[in-house]
Amino acid sequence: MAAERPRVGISLCLLGEEVRHDGGHKRDRYATGVLGQHFSWVPVCPEVEVGMGTPREPVNLLRTDDGVIMRGIRTGEDWTERMQEYSDQRVESLRKDDLHGFILKKGSPSCGMARVRLYDHNNVPGHDGVGLFAQALMEQMPNLPLEEEGRLNDKPLRENFITRVYAYYRWRTLRQKDPSPGAVVEFHTAHKMLLLAHSPKHYYELGRLVAEAGTLPMDELLDGYETLFMQALAKPASLGRQVNALQHLMGYLDDSVTTEDKAELLAVIQEYRDGIVPLIAPLTLLRHHLRRIDDPWIERQVYLQPYPRELALRSFYS
Ligand code: SF4
Repeated sequence: MAAERPRVGISLCLLGEEVRHDGGHKRDRYATGVLGQHFSWVPVCPEVEVGMGTPREPVNLLRTDDGVIMRGIRTGEDWTERMQEYSDQRVESLRKDDLHGFILKKGSPSCGMARVRLYDHNNVPGHDGVGLFAQALMEQMPNLPLEEEGRLNDKPLRENFITRVYAYYRWRTLRQKDPSPGAVVEFHTAHKMLLLAHSPKHYYELGRLVAEAGTLPMDELLDGYETLFMQALAKPASLGRQVNALQHLMGYLDDSVTTEDKAELLAVIQEYRDGIVPLIAPLTLLRHHLRRIDDPWIERQVYLQPYPRELALRSFYS
C-alpha cells in the first residue's frame, strides 16, 4: 500500500532518543519540529541495533592496508565485520519497505555521510571517512535522497533535499502501482519544468528516454528513468536555471494577461536575478497569472508547488 506521506529514515539520536555512546542525544529542532509534521520517520541507530549497548565505548574509523576498520577507541575492539553485516541486512530491509529519504547524523563513524574522522596508521586523523552504515545506504540505495542534519541549516541545501524527497515519494508511489508506459510519460510531463530548473541536460536525456516508452522493456524504462530523474534533481536549481524555468512558463501567458502585468512580472524576475527578492516573489506572481489560463499542462507542473506550501522553502535569496 502506498505511504500517505514520505517515509524518511533518520539517525535515532536526532529525534532526541538517548542512544549516543555517552547516553545522550542530539535532538535536531528542525527535524523534530517542522519536518516531523510532514514525514513519517523510520528511526535507525546502527550502533545500538548492532548490539553495542548504551552507554558504550565510542568507536572510530582507522585506515589499514586491508581497508577501513571500525574499532573501540580504548580497547581497539574490532566492530567492522559486525557493523558491515548488520548494515547490509538493515539497508536491504529498508529498501523493501520503501523509503523516500534519510537524514543522517554528521561526523558519526556509523551514520556520517562524508568528512568523518578517519585515522591513519600513525593515529593522525584525516576528514575523508564515511560512516559504515551510511556507506551501505549509498551503495545499495543510490537514488535515495540523503542529507546530514547540519547541512539542512543551509536553506538551498534544505530546499533541494525536501524537493528530492517529495519527488522520490511521488515516483515510488507511481512505481508501486505497476505503471503503464503512458503513466510514466504523464509523470515526466508533470515534472518537466522542475527538471529544467535543476538540469537541462537531464531534462533532454529523460525526454529521449520517455520517447521510447512504448518500445523499451518496462524494467529498463523504470530503472533508467528513476536513476536519471534523481540524478537531475540532485543538481542544485541555480539562479540562472530558475530564471529559465520562470521565463519558459511565462511564455504560456496569453492575451488575458495585460502587457503591463507581463512587464511587471518580467521586472520581478529581474529583481530575483539581481538578488533583490527571493524566488517566491516571481513565482507567486506567475502562479497568479497562470491561474487565469485554462491549460491542463500548466496545472500539472509540479515546479509550481513541489512540496507542501507550509514548508515555505522558496523564501531564500539564491
Ligand atoms: S549517530 Fe547514529 S549510531 Fe550514533 S547514536 Fe546517532 S543514530 Fe546511533
